[in-house]
Amino acid sequence: MNTTKEREISKIKLAAGRERMDKIVSLCKRRGLIYPSSEIYGGLGSCWDYGPLGVALKNNIQDLWWKEMTQLHDNIVGLDAAILMHPKVWEASGHVEGFVDPMVDCKKCKFRFRADEIEGTVCPKCGGELTDPRQFNLMFKTSMGPVEDRSSMVYLRPETAQGIYVNYLNVMQSTRLKIPFGIAQVGKAFRNEITPGNFIFRTREFEQMEMQFFVKPGEDEKWLEYWLEERMNFYLKLGLKKEKLRLSRHDKKELAHYAKTAYDIEYEFPFGWKELEGIHNRTDYDLSRHMKYSGKDLTYFDEETGKRYIPYIIETSAGLNRTLLTLLVDAYDEEEVEGERRVILHLSPVVAPIKVSVLPLVKKDGLPDIAKEIVAKLRSYFIVFYDQQGSIGRRYRRQDEVGTPFGITVDYQTKEDNTVTLRYRDTLVQDRVLIDDLVNILRERVEA
Ligand code: ATP
Repeated sequence: MNTTKEREISKIKLAAGRERMDKIVSLCKRRGLIYPSSEIYGGLGSCWDYGPLGVALKNNIQDLWWKEMTQLHDNIVGLDAAILMHPKVWEASGHVEGFVDPMVDCKKCKFRFRADEIEGTVCPKCGGELTDPRQFNLMFKTSMGPVEDRSSMVYLRPETAQGIYVNYLNVMQSTRLKIPFGIAQVGKAFRNEITPGNFIFRTREFEQMEMQFFVKPGEDEKWLEYWLEERMNFYLKLGLKKEKLRLSRHDKKELAHYAKTAYDIEYEFPFGWKELEGIHNRTDYDLSRHMKYSGKDLTYFDEETGKRYIPYIIETSAGLNRTLLTLLVDAYDEEEVEGERRVILHLSPVVAPIKVSVLPLVKKDGLPDIAKEIVAKLRSYFIVFYDQQGSIGRRYRRQDEVGTPFGITVDYQTKEDNTVTLRYRDTLVQDRVLIDDLVNILRERVEA
């Protein structure tokens, strides 16, 4: 039982968390990271659009994940399956029958709630009477072709994984990969979530970065351990704070219908510890079900033993948007410098949307021309941003706010000795360096 003091502390923490989230949401809109979708029409619940810097950040995360999976592992290949799939896929996967949240409706205000989130027996909004819990399928339906009837009904995929399972034979035959091997995919998924929220944490349209690793039964738990470590290291490489990450094992009650063992990588968000990625031992559930429903032989021939078996699958399933939110939450900071408040995103240079800004000290005396020459030199290596508007202090602040790790300033000394100042966002240290050395110095820093 929580004491009154503990309850008070948790209330204060919640309020501080909410304030922090509000600041992040407002920064995202102001600086072109994320906008409410269809805003000129009043927005559309839980849908968000990624602006110029948001899409750059998202692409960087996706590229790093893709590289981590496919380039750094010679037994993992990529795939991009269609969002619309044969409806039988979702019967085989168990989603038609199992992908449901029990819901209750308020008879008075008609609001719908997740049954497990309701305390008591009346509507938390209006006090009205609630219905008994009913099953509610989270898959979006649409229809394919000119006639809308039951036979044309298809689902928007609620996860990318099934596209991998139904292509497992194709991939194996066309690549001649042997078990153990993996297939990686990034793509949109759709879930008609009942309680979306916390900005882009839970939305109805989102992107997943999933990798399904096919292994020999009996070796599954060993590979699960391997992937737990690999995936945790990935988030550390993205620059997330170690103390904000943890592994949480699902107990029997929480296990999904397909899983034997499951872990979540969790992050401590301003609204509590929440899942960032799921790592699951899905056993031979998926391939067995697809064998049964499709009538195709999906067994694997083991050349060593001369026997066939249905591979087990270890899945690593991460949310791209959720990772982006985690990076923002982790990086957001405010500090006072010489009596002025600065907002900083301490994004790691590997993910930062803009790597370096180039700023002439003043808009005259040929400094902008030199600065533009530097931009032209750097542009084929990095995303560079040129800015000559406003005071130099203000221009630095604008870059700090969007996480640009390095700033180059061209001043009068540049005209004399071809050097510029290189400013570091986090330490505010300024080095004097030769223009000719910039590419090498920055490459080293960005890659580190
Ligand atoms: P949760 O418990 O948060 O609903 P889940 O266990 O249903 O998540 P999975 O099915 O394991 O999630 O999906 C893998 C990952 O996809 C999650 O860890 C998360 O990062 C992301 N994800 C799932 N649902 C959403 C959503 N509605 N919005 C954004 N990302 C999501």
